[in-house]
Amino acid sequence: MRITAAVLREVGKPFQIEELELAPPQQNEVLVRTVASGICHSDYSIAHGVLRAPMPIVLGHEGAGIVEQVGPGVTHLKPGDKVIGSLTPSCGECVMCKEHKHFMCVQMGALLNNCTYIDGTTRHKTLDGEDVYAMCGLASFGSHMVMPAGSAIKVPDDTALESTCLIGCGVTTGAGAALNTVKIKAGDAVAVVGCGGVGLSIIQGARIAGATTIIAVDPMPEKRELAKRMGATHVVHPFEENVQQTVRKLTGGLGVHFAFEALGRVETMEQCWGLIRPTGRAVIVGIAALNQSVRLPAAGLLAEYEIQGSCYGSSSPAVDIPRFAALYKQGDLLLDEMITQRIGLHDINRAFEEMGRGEGARSVIMYG
Ligand SMILES: [Zn+2]
Ligand SMILES: [Zn+2]
Repeated sequence: MRITAAVLREVGKPFQIEELELAPPQQNEVLVRTVASGICHSDYSIAHGVLRAPMPIVLGHEGAGIVEQVGPGVTHLKPGDKVIGSLTPSCGECVMCKEHKHFMCVQMGALLNNCTYIDGTTRHKTLDGEDVYAMCGLASFGSHMVMPAGSAIKVPDDTALESTCLIGCGVTTGAGAALNTVKIKAGDAVAVVGCGGVGLSIIQGARIAGATTIIAVDPMPEKRELAKRMGATHVVHPFEENVQQTVRKLTGGLGVHFAFEALGRVETMEQCWGLIRPTGRAVIVGIAALNQSVRLPAAGLLAEYEIQGSCYGSSSPAVDIPRFAALYKQGDLLLDEMITQRIGLHDINRAFEEMGRGEGARSVIMYG
């Protein structure tokens, strides 16, 4: 079928809005009409060459929509179902899935690294017949998506997809880091470095977990303001204050139990190591360029400092995505407040320029 999509042909160049041919869903795949897609920082990282991907490509991996067609072998979905696209296909067959670590499903490799579908082929073609790759097997910067059936997570019919699309990546990554990757106890102290969509979701997860000191670090005044609305008890401007001293002062001189990094910069990953108390843990949620290294002063090890990565909120999407949708419905998880603007697909280049300047938390593309 013919779809409209934002196609990236070269790093650092604007997206081109093009008509593409999208193949029908194959075995264990579904066709979804895209209703809304958030723009995530990983899209920006690929568009600017920090993360690598084959081109031409349709980016977008924070999409939600309505199932239009199911391929052979799909039994848990039917046309008309509302779904949120997940970053992992949760194949259910691999060792990681069998250990309930769906966020590490071995089938993700084809989707994330090769930007093909699980069988190694593409579903998108230009009208001239050229293969077009797809980010995460989703490609939500397109008016329709073909995705692995395991990536299509059904949510209740009364779910507002125009806001819950954020659960597909940023919210699950952030709230999941606070609620799944680590066990925050009621009364714990937490710091969050970087208050974009992921950082704001970490703050919300920490609030839901019962943390009573939540220190948000971001240079942008509007993001610090948003952080307070999401549950931050204190905010810090990292260039005007000494972050480490301020965090110590706010935590009785000790530092926090958990310091989360949500920027993907090695400097701030190292900074998080300096914010934790003895036996505390630095939790790295942001994604740095993969050839970079983090250097940590060894002295922290004597105080049993820990550092841990967190991938996709350590989530099992079939459980966590409906859980976060329910938390949104009952008012515990704030999503509308995180959305800075809603745009049409044609405004995507402007939204990426704004993201490059660090403006706003989330732009959401609306289709139809
Ligand atoms: Zn993302
Ligand atoms: Zn698997």
